[in-house]
Amino acid sequence: MASAHGIFVDADIAAPMIGDGEGLLMDWRRGNGASSQEPPSFLYAMPLGDGTVVFEETSLGLCGGMPQHELRRRTVNRLAAHGIRLNGDERCEAAHYPLVEPPPKPGAGRVVGYGARGGMMNPATGYSVADSLALADTAVTALQQGEDPIAALWPWQARLVYWMRVRGLWGLGRLTTEQSIAAFDSFFTATPRGQRAVLSTRDDYATLAALLVRTVAHTWPFHWRFDFVGWTHRNRWTDYTFNLPARTQQSHPGASATP
Ligand SMILES: Cc1cc2nc3c(=O)[nH]c(=O)nc-3n(C[C@H](O)[C@H](O)[C@H](O)COP(=O)(O)OP(=O)(O)OC[C@H]3O[C@@H](n4cnc5c(N)ncnc54)[C@H](O)[C@@H]3O)c2cc1C
Repeated sequence: MASAHGIFVDADIAAPMIGDGEGLLMDWRRGNGASSQEPPSFLYAMPLGDGTVVFEETSLGLCGGMPQHELRRRTVNRLAAHGIRLNGDERCEAAHYPLVEPPPKPGAGRVVGYGARGGMMNPATGYSVADSLALADTAVTALQQGEDPIAALWPWQARLVYWMRVRGLWGLGRLTTEQSIAAFDSFFTATPRGQRAVLSTRDDYATLAALLVRTVAHTWPFHWRFDFVGWTHRNRWTDYTFNLPARTQQSHPGASATP
């Protein structure tokens, strides 16, 4: 699952953390108040151009997802760590959606699943918009030529890449915060082609396989490699029970921030 809780903060209040023209992509720094015994999450922060900045604590790949009150607690903690206090009446948004919606099977005479419903959501990132737009011509051309659009959209290379990305997502979903940071550090030092194989290119299975192997091979301490491939701690967070929301957070969600 992907779970996120976003809080829209006035840009001047957000300024100690996000200045003019700045943003944060996958902020894995400490400061969300979660210990290494708790499932990991990270932060996106993005100015929206309307005088607000959205701070969105996000969990990827956790089986069952992360509850909103926990994500909110972590977002508020991060803001408090930068001296930002909320009134509690800021606009907020909640997201909770499955990352794995497999590609449809080929075959004529049926509704063609497209977009997120048609396997175009990248299970490793939760993104689908660019792929959905980029593949429109492929689907329409196949229809015009009386061919099966699903076969045109989903050659075996793309299916193999999808399969590997799902494995990568499951791997991510069993890691601790420290291990997740190690995995992303490895990703950000991969070649641009390797990074694209994860993020965007749909059919570069050889590069994606090499990147997954490289990620495991670069992992240190050594025994973490067994977690990455699922030989140990395969279901680390499966039965994890989150704390219930604190009473104060229920009545004044944003006002309970403590540094
Ligand atoms: C917080 C958040 C951040 C995200 N960030 C990114 C990002 O940065 N980049 C990115 O690429 N993606 C991102 N995504 C994912 C992206 O938003 C979705 O993958 C994308 O919107 C899916 O588009 P879609 O048109 O395929 O499906 P949807 O947006 O789900 O559209 C499907 C539509 O079909 C309608 N519908 C469903 N069933 C029926 C029916 N039977 N009859 C008629 N209508 C029906 C629904 O009401 C809906 O309007 C993000 C998602 C979230 C929640």
